[in-house]
Amino acid sequence: MTQATVTPTLAPTFTKLVSKEGGAEYPLKALHICEETFAPLEVAYDYDAIRRQVSRESIQAGPNSIWRYKAFLPVTSENPIDVGTGMTPLLKSHRLARRLGLKNLLIKNDAVNMPTLSFKDRVVSVALTRAKELGFTTVSCASTGNLANSTAAIAAYAGLDCCVFIPADLEAGKILGTLIYNPTLMAVKGNYDQVNRLCSEVANSYGWGFVNINLRPYYSEGSKTLGFEVAEQLGWQLPDHIVAPLASGSLYTKIYKGFQEFVKVGLVPDKTVRCSGAQAEGCSPIASAFREGRDFIAPVKPNTIAKSIAIGNPADGIYALELARKTGGYIESVTDAEIIEGIKLLAETEGIFTETAGGTTIAVLKKLVEAGKIDPDESTVAYITGNGLKTQEAVQGYIGEPLTIEPTLDSFERALERSRTLERLEWQQVLV
Ligand SMILES: *Cc1c(COP(=O)(O)O)cnc(C)c1O
Repeated sequence: MTQATVTPTLAPTFTKLVSKEGGAEYPLKALHICEETFAPLEVAYDYDAIRRQVSRESIQAGPNSIWRYKAFLPVTSENPIDVGTGMTPLLKSHRLARRLGLKNLLIKNDAVNMPTLSFKDRVVSVALTRAKELGFTTVSCASTGNLANSTAAIAAYAGLDCCVFIPADLEAGKILGTLIYNPTLMAVKGNYDQVNRLCSEVANSYGWGFVNINLRPYYSEGSKTLGFEVAEQLGWQLPDHIVAPLASGSLYTKIYKGFQEFVKVGLVPDKTVRCSGAQAEGCSPIASAFREGRDFIAPVKPNTIAKSIAIGNPADGIYALELARKTGGYIESVTDAEIIEGIKLLAETEGIFTETAGGTTIAVLKKLVEAGKIDPDESTVAYITGNGLKTQEAVQGYIGEPLTIEPTLDSFERALERSRTLERLEWQQVLV
């Protein structure tokens, strides 16, 4: 009889939680704030151990999901919750690039991420895997919409009880897209920052795993995979410039952490990636601080159609500011009208229907190019983080209408002629 070969269990590569200010160390539990400095806690890794465990080949041989990067993620499970999250397309842009005057523009398309069509599936897959490891049976979150969708869906798959909190005035698609998974859904009469404050109180007394509160150090690591994937999809190299939307600032800073980690373990050559960030003018506390050269964030009360990124008091705001300044990037804001134009522009040129956050990213990309802040030759990645079918209200009234006709050839031809005449008239108006 031949002896069965035993696959050695790989040792965990993450070692502790560390305070982002002062460096105090904490155990790997459901903790998120430093008791001494009140700064956020972050997961620390043993990069020598990661270097020993991974190579380009071992990653490529891994699952077709974020779990191909498991050595860089804070979970110990042999079988993490894998609902096919990640490995979304990195699309070479032709028509949008030409329209903007860029030669090397790429779109990272998380509008088609699984299972709930936003980048939040990445962070939730990691957070709920960790929640199970830590023994939680009920998971929760304070959400601007996409996080609620994702937490409810992945909790359903993982067999966890779920209670999520949202501002009551969210888009219909975000509410329906949560309720369908049958969680307990609390629609709070207030803005996100008020929802978040309430959830902090609930987290203290209910013993639930809040993905973006007491599990936040683990949750936020999931966003690094948006850096890893782009580097791998570019043939194991880093882009010159990225543009990503900012709500709390977590996604934006973690993409960069992902790039840095790949450099650290020797998977890609070192390079400074210029990191630019996008906010909606109606909720732009980070962009204002950037513009005014401040190093603190003055909280604001959100008022914008870009609800998914409407966080007035962003937890990682100062780290986002630091990153933009350190890498030579910019943090810009755009109006709601520009956001709608951004959504339409991406749809008309690339066939991608994004939500308001993606419209914000495209509008800021355009603004930066027009201001000469993005070089046409730079390889630039625009991160599209959510799907437009969830925020239909935003574009209602700003797009065309169907031509309703009788089921006859004659009716069709008359309608076609009418629409062509209208198009000509519109062109004449543009020309005068
Ligand atoms: C949550 C969210 C973001 C940004 O989130 P951060 O809090 O900055 O990590 C961006 N886009 C979409 C669509 C989102 O739902």
